[in-house]
Amino acid sequence: MAYDPENIFAKILRGEIPCDKVYEDDHALAFNDINPQRKVHVLVVPKGEYEDWSSFAASASNAEITGYVRAIGAVAQKVGVDVDGYRLIANQGENGHQEVPHLHVHVVGGERSGPMLKRKD
Ligand code: 5GP
Repeated sequence: MAYDPENIFAKILRGEIPCDKVYEDDHALAFNDINPQRKVHVLVVPKGEYEDWSSFAASASNAEITGYVRAIGAVAQKVGVDVDGYRLIANQGENGHQEVPHLHVHVVGGERSGPMLKRKD
């Protein structure tokens, strides 16, 4: 599927819609989720136009991939969840319940999460 430049995270990246910014570098922007599921719930998005994990894995440059992974680590450290632990979630496609078609990793923590997966619509 072609990347949709009108998705909400693309608009946030272009500064057309505000966000509660947590971290930014050359490769990634991180901001608080508008509907947090844990005390800490940050979304980390790559700056490149990638719809999902698969397109990023297939097409991103080594520098983009390295930069994005390091940004996720930096975010976890910056928001203080790296010591007590956190969960990374990357939803993809319909079965993955992806809502926004720009790759994002959820960094959730600040409190305990339960078992990894729960069947739920
Ligand atoms: P997905 O299901 O695609 O993995 O998750 C999308 C996430 O984006 C959801 O957790 C939702 O709360 C969040 N979200 C949707 N629209 C906005 C927005 O305009 N601003 C922010 N900060 N988060 C959003």
